[in-house]
Amino acid sequence: MVSKGRPERPPVFGASSVPNSLFGEILDWMLAPLLLLWPISIAATHHVANDIANEPYDQALAENVGAITRLLQIEGGKVTISLPTQARAILHADEQDELYYQVRDSQGTLLAGDDLLPAPSGDNEPALSEVRFRDERLSGDPVRVAYKVHELEPGQRWVVIQVAETRHKREALASRIISGVLLPQFAIIPLAVVLVWLGLSRGLRPLSRLRERIATRRPGDLSPIDILRAPEELQPMVRSFNELMERLEENLQAQQRFIADAAHQMKTPVTGLRTQAELALRENDPAQLRDAVLQIARAAERAGHLITQLLTLARAESSHEKLHRLVKVDLNDLARDVASEWVETAQAKRIDLGFEGEDARLIIDGVPLLLRELLKNLLDNAIKYTPSGGRVTIRVIADDRATLEVEDNGIGIADEDRERVFERFYRVLGTDADGSGLGLAICREIAEHHRATITASAARDGIGIRVVVEFPRSGAPQG
Ligand code: ADP
Repeated sequence: MVSKGRPERPPVFGASSVPNSLFGEILDWMLAPLLLLWPISIAATHHVANDIANEPYDQALAENVGAITRLLQIEGGKVTISLPTQARAILHADEQDELYYQVRDSQGTLLAGDDLLPAPSGDNEPALSEVRFRDERLSGDPVRVAYKVHELEPGQRWVVIQVAETRHKREALASRIISGVLLPQFAIIPLAVVLVWLGLSRGLRPLSRLRERIATRRPGDLSPIDILRAPEELQPMVRSFNELMERLEENLQAQQRFIADAAHQMKTPVTGLRTQAELALRENDPAQLRDAVLQIARAAERAGHLITQLLTLARAESSHEKLHRLVKVDLNDLARDVASEWVETAQAKRIDLGFEGEDARLIIDGVPLLLRELLKNLLDNAIKYTPSGGRVTIRVIADDRATLEVEDNGIGIADEDRERVFERFYRVLGTDADGSGLGLAICREIAEHHRATITASAARDGIGIRVVVEFPRSGAPQG
């Protein structure tokens, strides 16, 4: 039912297992990946920027290797390099970077240039006539090296030429590229967060509107919510909500009917009480007065019985967890116990009360208090509707189900009434026995709570009635 609880969190949506808000949850799931991807994008930008910055400067470095190749000469079998002073100056004259060159022969002996530069080795094998590049450190500074193998005499003699350059220009260019790409992101990301926030608030607005509509309902309003006005994603929930409201409405109507019936039933004994009390007040004869008081006592007893039955029904109907927690119950034991309690009552009416049980335990999942109530009602009826000298038998049978039977050889119930006797306040006409018409309704309620079936059929030998309650055995699959 719609409660008058805190309007910001009505119970329909405020399930305690979901402590955080839907808004926050979606926001987290959108922003967390975004923030996680950011460092990855920075690393990728860095890598790409370095590649871009290397490209033009690598080309210049390769041209330097070519220039040195062209200056190589062989004089008297020795390799020399005629580097004019001007060219030497150009090689070293760079505003930002240091340039180094080196020529080694096939044995690794330095022929010209700076000895500092290590010879290519390992993965950095030089290729014939093809300029390759690698990164090195020279006196602690990172440098870019261009190198190649140059053949002086085909198949006989070759040299390795290397030109290296510190990375200042490249780093400056890479930094410019990185800041050009990343700086706008510092503005874009907060803007994206704000836009996501706004979008989410807007997107979740139908949910808030629906919540409003439920929260502002009148307490007794069980009318369905217009499903077409709810967004598609919420329609299944609205449908379930409407179904719940429908069931509540039915329940409420049943309860109202029950209260009206109960009040009507109470009226009879109370009216009787009042009439008899008025009669008694007018009576002077002590014997007549005593008779009237006796009638009052009987009417009061009937009213008391009706009230007890009403309370029992309310208890059987209640969905209170603690009251109705199912435990393992030995049906055989319970039935034998109740039977022994009723022997005296049966004897008082000269009725032979018998018990036919199983030798072994017969375990069902049940509520002992309710099971006793059920058997008590069946025995009460059997004794009440069986004439003196009759016979009542309680039977417990174990097969694929656990069966409890109460059979009598009394007045019986006509075929057409055997279903209806389980309805509330239904009594078969023509008996003068006192009763409320609630006993069997209570039994059915208790049976349903135990997923059991209850039926009334003819007794085995054709006279009287046999009420059969069939329980699922403990541990049997539900269904
Ligand atoms: P009540 O308080 O009237 O006995 P119940 O719900 O227990 O209410 O039973 C409903 C009606 O079913 C009774 O009025 C009675 O006519 C019939 N009935 C119940 N049990 C028996 C029985 N063992 N033998 C004959 N009639 C019975």
